[in-house]
Amino acid sequence: MKNHAQAVIIGGGVVGVSVLYHLTKAGWRDVLLIERAELTSGSTWHAAGGMHTVNGDPNVAKLQQYTINLYQELEKVSGQSCGMHITGGIMLAGTQERLDWLKMTQARGRYLGMDLEIVSVDEAAKLFPLMDKKHFKGAMYDPIEGHVDPYGVTHAYAKAAEMGGAEILRRNRVTDLKARTDGSWDVITEHGTVHAEHVVNAGGLWAREVGRMVGLELPILAMEHQYLLTDDMPVLAGLKEQIHCIDFEGELYLRQERGGMLVGTYERAGVPWSQRTTPWDFGQDLLPNDLERIAPSLEIAFEHFPALGTAGIRKVINGPFTFAPDGNPLIGPIGGLKNFWVACGVMAGFSQGGGVGLALAHWMVDGDPGADIWGMDVARYGGWATSAYTNAKVRENYSRRFRIRFPNEELDAARPLRTTAVYDRLAAENAIFGEYCGLEHALWFAPAGVAAKENISFRRSNAHQHVAAECRAVRDAVGLLEISSYGKFEIDGLGTTEWLNRMMANRVPAVGRIALTPMLNERGKLIGDFTMCRLGQNRVFLIGTYAAESYYMRWFERHLPKMGVSVRPCAMEYVGLSVAGPLSRVLLQSLVHDDLSNAAFPFMSFRQLDVGMVPALVGRVSFTGDLGYEIWVTSEYQRALYDLLIAAGRTYGMRLFGGRALNSMRLEKSFGTWAREFRPIYGPYEAGLGRFIDLQKADFIGRTAALEEKEHGAPLRLLAFRVDAADADANGDEPIWHNGKVVGAVTSGGYGHSAQASIALGYVPSELAVADSGFEIEIIGTRHAARRLDAAAFDPHGLRMRS
Ligand SMILES: Cc1cc2nc3c(=O)[nH]c(=O)nc-3n(C[C@H](O)[C@H](O)[C@H](O)COP(=O)(O)OP(=O)(O)OC[C@H]3O[C@@H](n4cnc5c(N)ncnc54)[C@H](O)[C@@H]3O)c2cc1C
Repeated sequence: MKNHAQAVIIGGGVVGVSVLYHLTKAGWRDVLLIERAELTSGSTWHAAGGMHTVNGDPNVAKLQQYTINLYQELEKVSGQSCGMHITGGIMLAGTQERLDWLKMTQARGRYLGMDLEIVSVDEAAKLFPLMDKKHFKGAMYDPIEGHVDPYGVTHAYAKAAEMGGAEILRRNRVTDLKARTDGSWDVITEHGTVHAEHVVNAGGLWAREVGRMVGLELPILAMEHQYLLTDDMPVLAGLKEQIHCIDFEGELYLRQERGGMLVGTYERAGVPWSQRTTPWDFGQDLLPNDLERIAPSLEIAFEHFPALGTAGIRKVINGPFTFAPDGNPLIGPIGGLKNFWVACGVMAGFSQGGGVGLALAHWMVDGDPGADIWGMDVARYGGWATSAYTNAKVRENYSRRFRIRFPNEELDAARPLRTTAVYDRLAAENAIFGEYCGLEHALWFAPAGVAAKENISFRRSNAHQHVAAECRAVRDAVGLLEISSYGKFEIDGLGTTEWLNRMMANRVPAVGRIALTPMLNERGKLIGDFTMCRLGQNRVFLIGTYAAESYYMRWFERHLPKMGVSVRPCAMEYVGLSVAGPLSRVLLQSLVHDDLSNAAFPFMSFRQLDVGMVPALVGRVSFTGDLGYEIWVTSEYQRALYDLLIAAGRTYGMRLFGGRALNSMRLEKSFGTWAREFRPIYGPYEAGLGRFIDLQKADFIGRTAALEEKEHGAPLRLLAFRVDAADADANGDEPIWHNGKVVGAVTSGGYGHSAQASIALGYVPSELAVADSGFEIEIIGTRHAARRLDAAAFDPHGLRMRS
């Protein structure tokens, strides 16, 4: 056994071998995969092998497309068959909502180049004759769905990797991992120790155990999953192979397997498997069947596909596989652990394994995944994703696998978990809460006499008019919003300014001032957008996106000098309230001794102030785009501050507002936000953030690429549109058409209540950045005329926030 490798991959399931193959393809030859038994000894061996391109996150969908297209290459390189059956597939809609969802999915696929087609029930029945038409309203056809042979795929990756120089060690369990001081690892196995520069946890069903070897509790849980194989069915005799089928109402998936059918279901009452630890002696085993549990879905199957009712059951497979709380993979480096990588929680290894391997290999070799993998990045979870939280969320996600998630729908599992001191007060005011990183935050407030409940819908909901009233209160007088869910960092030490000037594209502001700044990677792409608030010579309060806290910290740690700068995440230590609107100054002035006049405390000021008796950090800035203040206090003061503002606000007609109103107001101001408009695939000039790039600074990360983008232009441009929409607004990922061609996609959208316009933001090719006509945005299957906006739809000159 070799005792040194550049990288050791732990786990020979479909994910581990894909990482191995992609590392060799990216040029690393000294790579070793260690498997405790035979390849495929986890979830992989009993998978149904189904694959599809559709995914709620377009960036994950792209990696699924990549995976499916990879199999031909793999067969060619390795000479091993992947057992590919590209039959095509059909998704059946039994309700109007589901048909709307399919239309939206089809539309979203357009920008990704997916060839999805909405078909009638009659056409669907021609494609999939087993269905009984009377239960359905329409369908969507995808020509590149199909299935592969899990054994064949895994061995094809393995062979291709070995041909590229990789080694695979079977029947040898990794029992421990020890970090060396230089960041490399001793990988301790049953048969000796390997010294590795990098370690990848691709342990699948045992990824939690491998994580625990380095003190990491990964948010994943295995669920039991059952599918059955029927005896040969006479109706299939002589027909060409049946296409794949998903029946959402039955929560069923079906495909042909030899002369019969394979029928699987994601049942509502799903059962987790090995909730705390996975036994090491589990291997190519199956779990006992429990047909009782899936009986409700099977009954629907017999109704919707009558021929199944008379077919005998040849075999039932019940096997476990792992999920992260949101069902997407967990990949990437782990903050605080040098050269330790994960590729786990992959619930659709045959659709996603290739893309996961590709992204991780690029990340390890080039320092960057090479694609926008935010939706799969392990850093999207923080310490709040405990194993009990994960357990509740995974069960919920499993039970909803084939259910629609409406854009305004909030899910109930694991709630309420994190609440701030004002939670009860907001609840008493009829707040409708949403959950973000496990934290409850108010979305909107139902007025007295109105039920605090929102109807879920693709269209404008019952909240519309109440959100409108909240926006009016802010624009006409003053509103109060809780803003605790922002990410915050305290940065101090003698090297603070120098370090931040290198990390951020904008210059650190003067003491007492605020500066907005993008953060770029070496390729000049956006990896963050922050508000830098300079509190002292060597002290900066940095505000960003809370969901990206671990993502930012991982980057900060990578670039921190040994001494002179300390970065401390402090999101929940400093909770906040914001007052916004033309009367916010008089309101706050009534509680503060210092002069808050525009001359004394102008736009973009930041200072330590006492608000009544409450010591606070106050910034004159507001995401509403109106005159406004963000007030940060340590959590024990939040309730007192809230009561004080509420009492003082009575004189000024102050009203509570929530996240929905904030979103409406930021959209009509064309303000972008992280993970929507700002993502690592866009440059700062593309994203319209050029004014926050200080090229006068001699050096900062991404400067060369940013300069290049400025001088030579970028392929895309973020635009704002006023959409001619009647009762449903864009929400995100809808296609943007220009003169009959899909040219881009919406990043976010909604109704701007003050501008009284449906607004959408999205990227289009830069040559269309000044096009005056021809735009349309497709919402629920209908194309709506859209007019490009030269400036924000509300207060285009930004006078209100500066007044
Ligand atoms: C019933 C069923 C049906 C499914 N159907 C589909 C489908 O149709 N389509 C689809 O895409 N997906 C399907 N899946 C999911 C699919 O199986 C998984 O996405 C995939 O197998 C995950 O692969 P993996 O490599 O991450 O994990 P695993 O397959 O669990 O592999 C992990 C490997 O790591 C090894 N290992 C762990 N710890 C150590 C250690 N300490 N030392 C050495 N080796 C170690 C294990 O022995 C194992 O071989 C299905 C799963 C089940 C159970």
